Amino acid sequence: MSDDRNPVIGLLGGGQLGRMLCEAANPLGIDIAILDEENSPAKQAHNTNRHVTGSFKDAARIRELAAQSDFLSVEIEHVETEVLEDIEKNGVGVKRADGTTKIHKPPVHPSWKTIRLIQDKYLQKEHFRTSGKGIPIAEQVAIESGPAALDSLKNAANKFGLSFMLKARKGSYDGRGNFKVGSVKDFEAAIKALGGLSLYAEKWVPFVKELAVMVIRTEDDNGTLRSCVAYPAVETIHEDSICTKVFMPPRDVSDAVCEAARKLATEVISTLWGRGVFAVEMFVLEDGSLMVNEVAPRPHNSGHYTIEAVPQMSQYKAQIHAVLDLPVPKNLTPRVSSSIMLNILGGATPSAHLPLAEMARKTFDDDMDIHLHLYNKASKPGRKIGHITLTSTTLSIHDLETKAKPLIDLVNLIRH
Ligand code: ATP
Ligand code: MG
Ligand code: MG
Repeated sequence: MSDDRNPVIGLLGGGQLGRMLCEAANPLGIDIAILDEENSPAKQAHNTNRHVTGSFKDAARIRELAAQSDFLSVEIEHVETEVLEDIEKNGVGVKRADGTTKIHKPPVHPSWKTIRLIQDKYLQKEHFRTSGKGIPIAEQVAIESGPAALDSLKNAANKFGLSFMLKARKGSYDGRGNFKVGSVKDFEAAIKALGGLSLYAEKWVPFVKELAVMVIRTEDDNGTLRSCVAYPAVETIHEDSICTKVFMPPRDVSDAVCEAARKLATEVISTLWGRGVFAVEMFVLEDGSLMVNEVAPRPHNSGHYTIEAVPQMSQYKAQIHAVLDLPVPKNLTPRVSSSIMLNILGGATPSAHLPLAEMARKTFDDDMDIHLHLYNKASKPGRKIGHITLTSTTLSIHDLETKAKPLIDLVNLIRH
């Protein structure tokens, strides 16, 4: 790191997660150099001459970013990891004022190894299953591609019964790579929808709730794990496979299950490599047992509530502290009794969400604080363009939900 300027984190991706990372970095005097399209949401939130225009999958642009960064990190896992591995091992050439070249090796956090593993959801879960830490996952089987796909789907149906979930191994988000196979008649449509991709099948999980836990992972520069600290467990609601709402604390889930979820999340993240915040998505089954769905190696939608609800630090500040190897809290406890996060998803028309934003701005309530975050993204149907975090220091989660009903109704209306 340079002694004569503030630290620079080079970030692959400049969407809303990068934007909120910048909002946390700005008061700390940390410079965030973003690699993404011009004027992307994160670039709008942080002014620096170090931003790079281009794709976070483009090796040349990633090298350009690395050359001017002290650390590299990501706001999305779908990035080019070969080049990250090469940068960490061999560095990039940086021209000195006298015309000579020095080799610069910014550490990558989380590790490219973690990002590469997580990119392939099938391998990610095989890793957890074989970690020796007793991490429960849904049974899964790889699906052949090409002409063998149909037979492979039949085998999956024999093994798991129907329904099962067919998933793209790579590149999916917001459920876009998932197809629920409910009957033999769905095979053809499933292959048509996802057939060009590398696939796997997962046994259907009859969950009663979905939980998520954010974990801050720290390790020293030699890669020795120092700590995994869990945020409170939250309940996530997915509709049409996209997260729409987050409840903290989870509704009608015992403290024991929430604590078990936090413990499981730290076990899961302890098997990975590098520093940063991670999300662990989980299913709760009828008997209260837990199953890991997937991990995100970065700040996450389910952790937005930490900005207003967790006094020690938000997931974004935690990401900065972890990457830079600054201290992180040992305990993460909410400052509020309840919090609800509502995603603002683009509606049928580009202005469909405006009445919701207006209602959020106009509502005032002594028992409920309303925090509106718009990302200044163009609205498209189903696209995450903002969120609202509601917090209360007095109300239970059920009473906060009742109080928030007009906002929740409007959120639901936009989607339909
Ligand atoms: P994200 O945006 O979180 O990255 P994704 O596209 O990777 O999502 P998943 O997390 O695999 O998708 O699945 C999305 C949602 O679909 C889950 O949150 C859950 O509601 C449902 N789902 C996924 N797998 C299963 C399963 N095996 N059985 C039942 N429901 C499932
Ligand atoms: Mg995912
Ligand atoms: Mg998911």
